[in-house]
Order: sequence, then structure tokens, then C-alpha cells
Amino acid sequence: MVQTSGKWVGLGLFLALLSHPLKAKELPATSEPIKVSVYDDAGVGLEVLIKSEKVASDVFERAGVGVRWLNCGIDGQLTGLPGCGKAEFPTRLQLRMLKRSRGLTPETFGISYLSVKGEGVYSQIFVEPVELLHKTTAMSMPDLLGHVAAHELAHLLLGTNSHSVDGLMRARWGSRELERVNQRTLLFDAGEARKMAERLIAGAKRNAEVTMAGAVAAPEAPQCSSQAAIGVTGIASGTD
Ligand SMILES: [Zn+2]
Repeated sequence: MVQTSGKWVGLGLFLALLSHPLKAKELPATSEPIKVSVYDDAGVGLEVLIKSEKVASDVFERAGVGVRWLNCGIDGQLTGLPGCGKAEFPTRLQLRMLKRSRGLTPETFGISYLSVKGEGVYSQIFVEPVELLHKTTAMSMPDLLGHVAAHELAHLLLGTNSHSVDGLMRARWGSRELERVNQRTLLFDAGEARKMAERLIAGAKRNAEVTMAGAVAAPEAPQCSSQAAIGVTGIASGTD
């Protein structure tokens, strides 16, 4: 997939919104959990990987979205699990962990690729800047990786312009967001949860109709109209 453009969004210096705790009964019921194929090309290791996936699962669960993880690559070795290669918006996503990005700023934690329709199946996480933050803050790798994974995968589910001025989908995380990672209170807000549920239901319905009709949708051109990334700023000074 070719990167054609990039943009940094949502560098809000002032809080305009607050995250609200979600009530499951307010959300539309999603039919099935999403499945995420995970490829660890950065030497994260299975133990940290599984703990990170649990952290991300908890974050999505609080928003009413179930996630099943397929560990398809461990330390760069393919595991050969069935279904690993499948990628279909919105329920079969791919997440690859790399040591570092190519061409993005060094503090960038991740990137997600969206089509011109605002749909995507592929995210990447860059582990070296996460490890640096782990070493400088003593925050756990699973906590950091899990929240970064939730942020990036949510870009695929939410579509374009999905950064927020506050909360998990904030484009750049500062000391306030990291504190909330530690407290496990960095979550999706109610609007994000509702939007994910709506797009999951609509996407699954559309895919089912395509399957029933025996038709095969024409593949989209391999282009990316947007990219989204999160980075950490101002940790040393405690401001952002
Ligand atoms: Zn982002």
C-alpha cells in the first residue's frame, strides 16, 4: 500500500470535550466480534503481545466492541493459523508491529491506512518509540501497546477525521493521556462507540448481502487518502 498523503490532526491545546463513561444499553448491539490478525515483526514476544491484546480488548469492550486476536506472526515467524491472511472491512483487520516507521517523525507510535471511502483494514504500530516511552516513564509495555493498538484499530473502524480533542483518539498524547493509560480510564467516548457500532453493523450487513448475491466487489485502488498517527509530545516537560 502506498502512502500518498499524510496529515496530523487534532493538536488541540484546549479541552472542549470530556469523555463520558459509556453505558452498554445505549449502544447498538454489534453482531460479531472483529478479528484482528497480529504480526509481530518487532520482537515484542508472545507474552507481551497477549497482555497488550488484553488491554486493547478491555478498551474496546468498554465501547461495546468485541475483539478476537489471531497471533499470525511471532518474532517475525509466521504461525500459520487459519484465517490469518483474511482482510475485510470492518470485521477482519490486520495489525503489524514494526520496529520503526519509514519517513514519519520518530515519536510516531502508529499509522492506519484508509481508502478514499474512509474504510481500512491495515494498521501498523512502531515499537521503538513505545519502548522509549516505557523506559522513560516506567509505564508497562502492554499498557502502552494495548492503548496504541486500540487507537490505531479504531481509526479503521471510525473512518476519516477520527481524531478527537480529548481521550483515546487524541492525535498526540501528553502527560494527561498517559496518566489515564495508567488508570485505565483512557477510553472511547460515547460518540465514538456509537459510530463504531453503526459502521460495524452496516459493514457486516453489506458484506453478507454481497456474499448472498454471489457477487465479488471490485477491489479498491491501493491508495490511501489519509493517514493518522499518534505521537507523544512534551513528556519531559509534562506539558503538551
Ligand atoms: Zn491517530
